[in-house]
Amino acid sequence: MKKDDCIFCRIACGEIPSKTLYEDEQFRVILDLGPATKGHALILPKDHAANLYELPEETAAAVMKLAKKMALKMRDKLHCDGLNLVQNNGETAGQTVPHFHLHLIPRYKGDGQNINWVPGKPSQEELEAVRKEITE
Ligand code: 5GP
Ligand code: ZN
Repeated sequence: MKKDDCIFCRIACGEIPSKTLYEDEQFRVILDLGPATKGHALILPKDHAANLYELPEETAAAVMKLAKKMALKMRDKLHCDGLNLVQNNGETAGQTVPHFHLHLIPRYKGDGQNINWVPGKPSQEELEAVRKEITE
């Protein structure tokens, strides 16, 4: 369902114009207004879900199917050398628009972007403690 005060709901349903790369009943794929690289796109579900936690399982599965389709198309048309999928949940994780979206970021050799983290150096014991915390 559409949320009237949500900008991505309004874009997804076509009320606000966007540079649309693909559209079907469930999704709209648009170019990001502040692209990390040429072709940076966002997959928007048309039904509002704030984040991955709220996204119905079936939609989550369909998002990944569409991401694959778009990835192949972008590789074919943009001749990019790689692709990052980025999906932020919550302000702490960098989410600025509270409507689920999956970033498709084509990567080009020497593009100067850096979508990375500083790796930690946990011991086997620390890893085991985390494994237990999550699984038990
Ligand atoms: P987040 O940080 O929430 O994962 O990503 C939000 C993304 O949406 C940003 O990359 C930003 O550039 C993009 N964005 C924000 N507002 C608009 C808009 O009105 N139109 C489009 N096409 N992109 C937007
Ligand atoms: Zn929304």
